[in-house]
Amino acid sequence: MNRAHNFSAGPAVLPLSVVEQLSAALPNFQSTGLGLMELSHRSPTFDAVHRSAEDRLRRLLGIPEDYRVLFLQGGASLQFHMTALNLLAENESADFIVSGVWAKKGLVEAQRVRAGRVAWDGNDTQYDRLPDTLETDPNAAYLHYTTNNTIYGTQFTKHPDVGALPLVADMSSDICSRPIDVGAHELIYAGAQKNLGPSGVTAIILSPWAVDKSPGGLNPMLDYTLQVEKRGLFNTPNTFGIYALERVLAWIEDFGGLDAMSQRNQQKAAALYGEIDRTDFWTGHAVPTARSEMNITFRAPSPELDTQFVQEADAAGLKGLKGHRSVGGLRASTYNACPPESVAALVAFMQEFESTHG
Ligand code: PMP
Repeated sequence: MNRAHNFSAGPAVLPLSVVEQLSAALPNFQSTGLGLMELSHRSPTFDAVHRSAEDRLRRLLGIPEDYRVLFLQGGASLQFHMTALNLLAENESADFIVSGVWAKKGLVEAQRVRAGRVAWDGNDTQYDRLPDTLETDPNAAYLHYTTNNTIYGTQFTKHPDVGALPLVADMSSDICSRPIDVGAHELIYAGAQKNLGPSGVTAIILSPWAVDKSPGGLNPMLDYTLQVEKRGLFNTPNTFGIYALERVLAWIEDFGGLDAMSQRNQQKAAALYGEIDRTDFWTGHAVPTARSEMNITFRAPSPELDTQFVQEADAAGLKGLKGHRSVGGLRASTYNACPPESVAALVAFMQEFESTHG
């Protein structure tokens, strides 16, 4: 099968073995005579899939037993709204680390519902770094941060140290790429379409604090209290997406879990940053100490060469390398399912491009 090297930022490459399992599940799932997308979400067959997805996520991330896990729809964008709606009481405010476009959207949505305050903003340096220090509001209800900045290519290596201030994290673009301390967070959310599966499913992990904070009585679709009570089955979930996510998590477990995955991700990122640093032809966007292992942002010597690189790479079977429209340049997304062979092909292509155009 002729699959291209896929560096798209999301929806992103999935493991081929998972894509094959999904394809096989469509006409007749587990010998039920019913296709995966044609099964009731309340059937025992789907219930087993749903529970397995949750169990696998719990095992992989080491989610504390008293935390709850949901697979909802609406993407991370809906969580910008739901977090503020459920976690901020009247007169409460949340602090935000504005490390990029998505973090800013979280702030804007909190401000629409209640109040949001900037604890740090990287705008002055085009979001090429992460904070050394934060100015947190001692009365903030929580601090929201984005673990990996998909657009500018920066990534926290550790959660911010904010003492007793509750932490809420958008982990859309690096969840399950490395071990994390779930217990240090009160709420984590992540759209699935980068590291966990297809778009249309969002994983949400809630501490007892987060569940207690939710006042209840909200629109049911937006209400953590109700969604937790119904295990995310208030209405029809994305059954296909949850199965795909379950298979991706099985693939990560078979690979050796998050330590093994993290090692592979580090090696892929090191190969690309190594090439960027090897010559003056390429310029990396993020400062070295804040570099993301998931989204590697760089540029050629001119915008014209960036465009030419994207075109020539595409023709050579290396897809999705154009930088986000808000920053330009180039971006290689190297999520879990991006194989080291794709990275090696990209490095070889960069060398060839430099020798022709340098
Ligand atoms: N947060 C981050 C870090 C993202 O990368 C994205 C999407 N690229 C979003 C939020 C928005 O996600 P969605 O499209 O699932 O709403």
